[in-house]
Amino acid sequence: MDTVSNAVHYVFLGAAACFVLGLHLMNHPRTARRGNTVSAAAMAAAIAATVWLVIHQGRITATGWAVLIAGGLVGAALGLWAAREVRMTAMPQLVSVFNAVGGGAAALIAVNDLLQTDDPAALGARVSLPGALDIVIGAVTFSGSLVAAGKLQGLVPGAPVAFPGARLLNVLLPVSFAAGTVWLVLEPGSRAALCGLLAVALLFGVTMVLPIGGADMPVVIALLNAFTGSAVAMAGFVLDETALIIAGMLVSSSGGILTKLMAEAMNRSVAAVLVGGFGTGDGAPSAAGAGGPGAAVRSVSADDVAVQLAYARKVIFVPGYGLAAAQAQHELADLAELLTAHGVDVSYAVHPVAGRMPGHMNVLLAEANVPYTQLAEMDEANAVFAQADVALVVGANDVTNPIARRPGNAISGMPILDVDRARSVVVIKRSMGHGYAGIDNELYTDAKTGMFFTDAKQGLADLKAAVAEFVG
Ligand code: NDP
Repeated sequence: MDTVSNAVHYVFLGAAACFVLGLHLMNHPRTARRGNTVSAAAMAAAIAATVWLVIHQGRITATGWAVLIAGGLVGAALGLWAAREVRMTAMPQLVSVFNAVGGGAAALIAVNDLLQTDDPAALGARVSLPGALDIVIGAVTFSGSLVAAGKLQGLVPGAPVAFPGARLLNVLLPVSFAAGTVWLVLEPGSRAALCGLLAVALLFGVTMVLPIGGADMPVVIALLNAFTGSAVAMAGFVLDETALIIAGMLVSSSGGILTKLMAEAMNRSVAAVLVGGFGTGDGAPSAAGAGGPGAAVRSVSADDVAVQLAYARKVIFVPGYGLAAAQAQHELADLAELLTAHGVDVSYAVHPVAGRMPGHMNVLLAEANVPYTQLAEMDEANAVFAQADVALVVGANDVTNPIARRPGNAISGMPILDVDRARSVVVIKRSMGHGYAGIDNELYTDAKTGMFFTDAKQGLADLKAAVAEFVG
């Protein structure tokens, strides 16, 4: 190995160490931003080192450089634009599209390597096996992630899509992966094996995600993220690139851990999610109302709620998807500041799947500079709901629905925030409309619940004005 190759390998090693450090820093909201910067800087260094190596080896033609530069510019511009412009509520779709791009790119690396080689027979299982696995995992991730993004964007029905023979197909397709992989390993130059494997994997991505309900999408997205990492690691084996292998395995293992945590937060096994999900996508308002026909709903005004809040000793805010949709995080933080100044103990209860992506509420609240000390995770918050004078639910629905404690419904067994244990409850939302799981919420007809029907941003602004007036 010459000096440049050696130096590049040291850069890769340093970058890998920084990826691990970055992940560690992402453990806490206070250090997460630094973690992101460390990882991004390491990735930039790894890319720069790769370019240096490529120039040093002189392996690329002028056309190759033109394609690389054009691709890099278009990709970077699109990534930057998407990351800056996309609304927080649409972030899960963006993550899913990024997963698709990562998986697709990894699969294309293997396709290119297997097609370009002059002597396929000489490749050996050391390249053809990871190559075949790269194609399978990458292509499944590509099509599966596009379907998941389509579901979250409302382009594909959010409800589980069932079709005759789906289960049989989902058994037959993996069997054909195994056959295709063996064929490609034995005959690495076979275009029929390569195209067949690619087609079957793309089809499996679609048939795997279509039957899964929208409410299970957080688990699916985390799982597809883990797949992307595995595909990238396989691409690293194909190219013999240590940095790709390490980065891919880090994404794969952290995605795997996230998948497990998300599944646990919904009290479901990953297998149960993949076999058949719940959830119908964003629900339409229920004609009958939350408690069914005849159930009484108590409607309250900003002034009513302001009095309750001003006299409370302990208030717990419960943010949900509606807060993100209304972009009302700053109004909520302002209200908290006002109440805290008035001597009220204010905290925020954060459910792991509140919103539409893992960590959605944490990101929103951090954007509004909510102190981390005021954030309480689900178990922590559930231990103190009974001591709260008011639980103020802002645009959260499924994650507060007491029906989850009973069997036989779409969210049975999902751990919820025990909002109904607070002394009184106020819910801010626009109507009796459903949440993502598409079911009525019994909390709304509880005698101690007051429904403040309004847009979250407007409602919180009104509430802040009313509290300010009340406390003088
Ligand atoms: P939900 O989707 O259950 O409910 C959100 C509520 O917000 C709706 O009932 C809606 O009622 C209300 N709302 C919408 N817009 C506004 C607005 N402008 N002002 C006030 N209220 C508004 O949200 P939760 O956060 O409680 O639960 C998240 C759900 O999403 C779970 O089922 C979860 O599994 C699923 N999910 C989570 C993902 C994640 O990673 N976190 C990803 C994908 C799905 P109304 O229309 O009456 O105003």
